[in-house]
Amino acid sequence: IGLLLRQDPEIASVLLDELDRLRGGIQLIASENLASPAVLAALGSTLTNKYAEGYPGRRYYGGCEVVDRAERLAIDRARRLFGAEHVNVQPHSGASANLAAYAALLQPGDTVLAMALPHGGHLTHGSKVNFSGRWFDIVAYGVRRDTELIDYDEVRELALRHQPKMIICGATAYPREIDFAAFRGIADEVGAWLMADVAHTVGLMAGGALPSAVPYADVVTFTTHKALRGPRGGGIMCTAELATKIDRAVFPFVQGGPLMHAVAAKAVAFGEALQPEFAAYARQVVDNARTLADALAAEGMRPVSGGTDSHLALIDLRDVGVSGALAEQRCAAAGITLNRNAIPYDPEPATVTSGIRVGTPCVTTQGMGPEEMKEVAALVARAVRSPETADEVRERVLAISAIHPAYPSEL
Ligand code: PLP
Repeated sequence: IGLLLRQDPEIASVLLDELDRLRGGIQLIASENLASPAVLAALGSTLTNKYAEGYPGRRYYGGCEVVDRAERLAIDRARRLFGAEHVNVQPHSGASANLAAYAALLQPGDTVLAMALPHGGHLTHGSKVNFSGRWFDIVAYGVRRDTELIDYDEVRELALRHQPKMIICGATAYPREIDFAAFRGIADEVGAWLMADVAHTVGLMAGGALPSAVPYADVVTFTTHKALRGPRGGGIMCTAELATKIDRAVFPFVQGGPLMHAVAAKAVAFGEALQPEFAAYARQVVDNARTLADALAAEGMRPVSGGTDSHLALIDLRDVGVSGALAEQRCAAAGITLNRNAIPYDPEPATVTSGIRVGTPCVTTQGMGPEEMKEVAALVARAVRSPETADEVRERVLAISAIHPAYPSEL
């Protein structure tokens, strides 16, 4: 940072201010985490310079023998971590991993059965403003109104009626365990590919805190920056049979040169996730999410589906009488970062919403446990209900984050 301060003080101040923002607040965004200093070191390295189109040992550029080692390590570690037959670590993001998975298995116009966005699905699962909704014929399943859980009978009925070429399971805002075996059974019944998009939960899978999709799905797409705690990026796991199709879909169909600094950082993150401490971390993430959801419920803020099995909870604010958008704003004023989120069958538009989404990957990385989660729930409730107390809430937020800082002081 010293060099950057001298050469480009404007950008240096952005970096320092962001660190201050992290240290001066509580981060409850379910899709974020705090990558380790080792991951950050790999990201900020000379590997950013190297063009390496192709795959290890089969590149379209010279001088790739060193970066090849990084990609081989990333692949080997991911295969060990997840027991996958084949892994592609080049996707720049979760969205490009998903585009590559569609490209490998489908033709434009094919039918895809996926979870509806307002029920927790992702934009790449069929939104009209995304490639998936524009280029594919999407049939959407959702959650039941009474249980707010995936309706596997509905998934099966829709699959039988529409005969999709591919079924997608996995979500952005679904707090419960997904029954991959049930999806496999339905996919087999109609002869469809099964794609699991575990962008959100791959870190919990890695740590054994949630069941793995790998034994069930033909293709598993993921991100590396959420609960997995790696660099921003994506990846794809698949059966040996689909390896060539997936690799050709990532490069040259969807992407050009891989980001070798990010690939090296993914290798570091997979290495960290292979350590026994990571399993303890993943379990703690889920325990913290459960405690947070229960404590919010005790504050009169209802968790959708009654709770969570994962790192996130979706909170219905209708009984509180505050919209998701306003709750997001009020929490921000008190130093708590979270996002508004549609709840299933939400009467409000997506820009307003009736809910918020809270997640525990960041706070768990900072070493917080159940006691802190109970206090955080009380602070969220106070910030949402009594905006006039924002300054008092912020003081407690600062005190908690001083005890459990984001990043060591020497960073
Ligand atoms: N798939 C799911 C289920 C996600 O939740 C996300 C991001 O939140 C993505 C894909 C896309 O990941 P990215 O933002 O890296 O493109």
